[in-house]
Amino acid sequence: MIIADELINWYRNNGRDLPWRHTKDPYIIWLSEIILQQTRVEQGMPYFYRFVESYPNVKAFAEAGEGELLRLWQGLGYYSRVRNMHKAAKMVMSDFECVFPTQYEEVIKLSGVGEYTAAAISSFSINEKKAVLDGNVFRVLSRYFGIDTPINSTSGKKQFLALANEVISDSHPGLYNQAIMDFGATVCKPKAPDCENCVLSLDCVALKNGLVANLPVKIKGKSSRNRYFHYFVVEKEGAYLFAKRGENDVWANMYEFPLIETQQEVSLEELKEQDEYKVYFGDVEIEEIGEPIKHILSHQNIYARFYRVVDEQNNIEKKPSWNYYNSDNLDKLAKHKLIFSFINKYFMN
Ligand code: SF4
Repeated sequence: MIIADELINWYRNNGRDLPWRHTKDPYIIWLSEIILQQTRVEQGMPYFYRFVESYPNVKAFAEAGEGELLRLWQGLGYYSRVRNMHKAAKMVMSDFECVFPTQYEEVIKLSGVGEYTAAAISSFSINEKKAVLDGNVFRVLSRYFGIDTPINSTSGKKQFLALANEVISDSHPGLYNQAIMDFGATVCKPKAPDCENCVLSLDCVALKNGLVANLPVKIKGKSSRNRYFHYFVVEKEGAYLFAKRGENDVWANMYEFPLIETQQEVSLEELKEQDEYKVYFGDVEIEEIGEPIKHILSHQNIYARFYRVVDEQNNIEKKPSWNYYNSDNLDKLAKHKLIFSFINKYFMN
């Protein structure tokens, strides 16, 4: 297929030189692929190095404590990914005789590994002819072939997967997979693709028909739920009050400042009228820190406000799950991204 040869040629001359591209080790490929899901390369790179250094092989990863992994992961978000990685590493130890699998049909059995990651691992490590299909690949294929089937519909996924497996290179499937993803990330970008310098421009249907900005097509998903979080930053003699989240909500088992959630947006004065507030904070002095923050998760928009609480008289009624942690030890708590970013912004200057 012309598209495959063109992309491989382009990649050989222009592909980004990323550290995980120099290995055939399925464990390292797996680490990089999961870290980079929903994450920009520049953001994921330091995490990749940190994980490789701390856990150079799957055995070390499997033997790590969950808290330790969450801590190393903090700032990346989507914490279920690292939990699934832990499960997967343990599965490698128990079900695969401690050897990280390379064949697609085996890799896909691992926890947290879907079709995309299994195709990436098997094609990059042993050149198995399995096409990857991520956002970049959807975009390049839909534009190049001028396909307007929604990429997030069942029929769209089927159609694009079949097409991806049809156009994949017979001789260099791993290289082709890397090429098309890199090409989508750097040339055929979602906004402002570089059509002028594109090696596929001669045969690109979207370019020919003025459809570049309309493709790929996506059906609008269900709307997100709004949630209103009020965090209380309570400091006492160099220690901060932190709470561990429960199991059944976002950011399970991660640490954060004590929280009151309200059903709608409320002012500080209205917040003070809430029963929960009165129970825990009564008449203590309180002031808002910074601007409200909007934090978007899949299907949830979190609107967060932070308040500094002065509690010299010991008036706060602590929940049993709230504990003081010395500021020197805050690094050791696995905090979710919202808290992690807040601390970096307001405490690390
Ligand atoms: S010509 Fe433009 S739209 Fe078509 S593949 Fe190239 S960059 Fe993408």
